[in-house]
Amino acid sequence: MSEIENLLREDLRGQRPYGAPQLDVPVQLNTNENAYAIPDDVAEVVERFLAREVRGLNRYPDRDAAALREDLAAYLRHGLTARNVWAANGSNEILQQLLQAFGGPGRTVLGFMPSYSMHPLLARGTGTAFVDAGREADYTLSPGHVREAVAEHDPDLVFLVSPNNPTGTALGTDVIDAACEAARGIVVVDEAYAEFARDPAATALSRLEGRRRLVVTRTMSKAFAFAGARVGYLAADPELVEKLLLVRLPYHLSSLTQAAARGALACASRLQAEVDALKHQRDRIVKHLRAAGLPVADSDANFVLVGGLADAPAVWRAVLDQGVLIRDVGLPGRLRVTAGTEEETAALLSAFETVMEQSPELFGEQR
Ligand SMILES: *Cc1c(COP(=O)(O)O)cnc(C)c1O
Repeated sequence: MSEIENLLREDLRGQRPYGAPQLDVPVQLNTNENAYAIPDDVAEVVERFLAREVRGLNRYPDRDAAALREDLAAYLRHGLTARNVWAANGSNEILQQLLQAFGGPGRTVLGFMPSYSMHPLLARGTGTAFVDAGREADYTLSPGHVREAVAEHDPDLVFLVSPNNPTGTALGTDVIDAACEAARGIVVVDEAYAEFARDPAATALSRLEGRRRLVVTRTMSKAFAFAGARVGYLAADPELVEKLLLVRLPYHLSSLTQAAARGALACASRLQAEVDALKHQRDRIVKHLRAAGLPVADSDANFVLVGGLADAPAVWRAVLDQGVLIRDVGLPGRLRVTAGTEEETAALLSAFETVMEQSPELFGEQR
């Protein structure tokens, strides 16, 4: 063991940093980014908001991001105000702050994998024990399973993801209700893909009223095509939001980030056109691959989990050879594909068609 490795926290030794390969491939459908660049008219608004900040960069930003939180509350509706909302550098930082405040050494967060792979990593980084209660064989999650797992593990936090990554399907509000009723701790619903849901009413925002331990996290990385800006946020009871100020870094959210986010929020309805287009491409992928005989889960997100692969890593490689980068999330017989533009989706479907024709042995029951 090297000297530095020796000095590292025991629980981090031998670990590798998280991250999908960032390969230079013509069609990149592997990280669930929004396929559309920021449209010119939106870019001009964001640039105007940014320009207003530049000469004041000698000063620290608004620590409490008051104006941004007001705009986010207005965007979310559901009777929320700025006091219900908190913002940070991506919803990953939001989740980390929740774990710092309500988890930590000696505490437990309960999750249901396969789900967002950052949840266990954020738990580890904050010294919180992560318990995986798993899912049904078809990756669905029932209220009964959630209740049993909560009773068994008595977690300080419960992480639900709806729509779930990598499976794509949204949870019924009965599952969220079951978690809130069974758990004594904080219930977090990670809604990174909420804007892509087939039923927009399925959001846990509708369950916030009167539930002081429920937290709904969102991000501008997906629907707002703003992954590079790093803006995530949450909605919760004002008292819970105030507790997060205990762990946030001072001035964690730069003036430029706050301004850019406000500019994009001012264009929310304009950006909805791209979300609608991506939903259309997602449904096209589901329909097409099902017609080709591959089992595909219903998707409420901007990606689709494809099954029926006898050798998923080999299919991943063969599709990459066709110039299309998708994601091997480590699930046997399955790969995740992000919905792209119309052209990118055509390239994806044609790559699958070619690979199915050339290498039929890679498909079918998992070997
Ligand atoms: C993409 C994704 C996020 C977004 O993280 P950011 O830090 O906001 O970019 C959060 N949760 C899930 C489940 C995701 O897939």
